[in-house]
Amino acid sequence: MKTIGLIGGMSWESSKLYYELINRKVKAELGGFHSCKSILFTVDFDEIHRLQGEGDWAKLDKIMADAAQNLEKAGADIILICANTMHLCSEAITKSVAIPLLHIAEATGQAIVDKGLTKVALLGTKFTMEKDFYKDILTNKFGIEVLTPNAEERDAIHEIIYGELVQGKFTPESRAIYQNIIHRLAKEGAEGAILGCTEIPLLIAPEDVEIPTFNTTKIHAERAVAWALKDVAIGSLQ
Ligand code: GLU
Repeated sequence: MKTIGLIGGMSWESSKLYYELINRKVKAELGGFHSCKSILFTVDFDEIHRLQGEGDWAKLDKIMADAAQNLEKAGADIILICANTMHLCSEAITKSVAIPLLHIAEATGQAIVDKGLTKVALLGTKFTMEKDFYKDILTNKFGIEVLTPNAEERDAIHEIIYGELVQGKFTPESRAIYQNIIHRLAKEGAEGAILGCTEIPLLIAPEDVEIPTFNTTKIHAERAVAWALKDVAIGSLQ
């Protein structure tokens, strides 16, 4: 078994999910007393969130690259950023370590293709919904058409992520807001919905909406385990 390196703390609410998911998957695959070999490097999310707000992506690149280097030195064989948004720093990471990075959008794109869908809605932070780093992978690499919520919906989704979800707050009111947005996008032709923020699966369960959901936390964690156990190629990880 290879060792999975996790950059967590963004937020720790979803990092704990990653930890549980990788261990459950290894146990399901190998049985017995097996658990997942892993190393978790937790950043201080207060600093990350402040730098995101200031738009200081050079500093964020440095923090992410340092975290990845620490994981590599500690013996990790692969790096996972336990968030969608912070994949804005993925290039800084791949340039600074020799071990591979499993990109969450690549793992998700593969899962969508495997399910035979071609048009999906993307919910996440405004960084993820509005910048190109995520959508480009889905579209250019996997031929997936991405529908993003409108400006008002994006505001609401973003505010709920930072005001509630990353702080461990999950309310029926916010769930209803997300459900309504997904319902509207489904009527516009979305065949599935990407829960493109690693805390959203803590709010929205598959049965809460009428179209299939893509839980990026679970997809990412389980893809890493598949690689760690079988040494299979994952997307660009040839
Ligand atoms: N966990 C979130 C994501 O997947 C948002 C927190 C952040 O990294 O800003 O995008």
